[in-house]
Amino acid sequence: MTQNLLEVNELSTYYPIRKGLMQREVGQVKAVDGVSFAVKEGESFGIVGESGCGKSTTGRSLLRLIEPTAGQVLFQGEDVTKLSREEMRRKRREMQIIFQDPFASLNPRHKVRKILEEPLIVHGIGDAKERKKLVEELIVTVGLNVSQLDRYPHQFSGGQRQRIAIAKALMLKPKLIVADEPVSALDVSIQSQILNLMQDLQESFKLTYVFIAHDLSVVKHFCDRVAVMYLGRIVEIADKHSLYRDPQHPYTQALLSAAPSPEPGAAKERILLQGEVPSPANVPAGCVFNTRCPAATDRCRTERPVLQQTGDDHFVACHLYPAAGQG
Ligand code: SF4
Repeated sequence: MTQNLLEVNELSTYYPIRKGLMQREVGQVKAVDGVSFAVKEGESFGIVGESGCGKSTTGRSLLRLIEPTAGQVLFQGEDVTKLSREEMRRKRREMQIIFQDPFASLNPRHKVRKILEEPLIVHGIGDAKERKKLVEELIVTVGLNVSQLDRYPHQFSGGQRQRIAIAKALMLKPKLIVADEPVSALDVSIQSQILNLMQDLQESFKLTYVFIAHDLSVVKHFCDRVAVMYLGRIVEIADKHSLYRDPQHPYTQALLSAAPSPEPGAAKERILLQGEVPSPANVPAGCVFNTRCPAATDRCRTERPVLQQTGDDHFVACHLYPAAGQG
């Protein structure tokens, strides 16, 4: 049976809200609030939701680029939230991140050769000759060529820069890559090239991905399982086939109804949600989705639904569904 590479238990990341001259803490923004999920070795696990739902904060909290407030992040059984700064720095060899904007991780003043060699130097890998060989091999692996190593990041297109960012993330042969909207800023024609490259690399480097996206259509082809987030919480997790065939949470149903239909001209009823996403500084009581849910009842306004299993590899946090085996 495939092992879990990553297990996240009740992860929360809150930001303090400060006011006044003394910068007194007057409240908290609950960016991520009690999120739990597991990712199997070799799997692509998607986290999807609108902007501000906490998906990027979740991704960064896994690597402690943002310090979580509470909860566990078990990577190969070890809770990385308990590691010292130095231990965490070493652990990042195995846990890497790719950002939406590759400029965020590529120093504009350095040539690509230096950018790619840097992680090897920091982690004390190889001598100069070995490092040169590794850099030259990897730039070819991501679809660029050795002569491009002596250029600066601004001399590349957006897609090429994302290839360089992927090469940088791969330099240390990680096991896990958190990909935070890696194709959202790219033209549609380039998006599929980068997704194909990431899929090829998954095979050859035996990678596990946590793939963060704002749109369900991107993760549909890329991911094996998908978690849908709303206002800092996971509202549904399922195997992708089950999620697309039978979305159960009213929020997932609305998201999917807004996605373009695969069959041109096919009639599709669009579910329009009322109102705005509430502020994560002022989360509604009960179910976080109750202020916009067309099926909300009084119970939804007071009682928080927990994630419960409703089918094979399908979990939903909604009072409309009895747990598997009940009702
Ligand atoms: Fe809607 Fe209630 Fe289900 Fe929340 S628990 S999604 S408000 S029906």
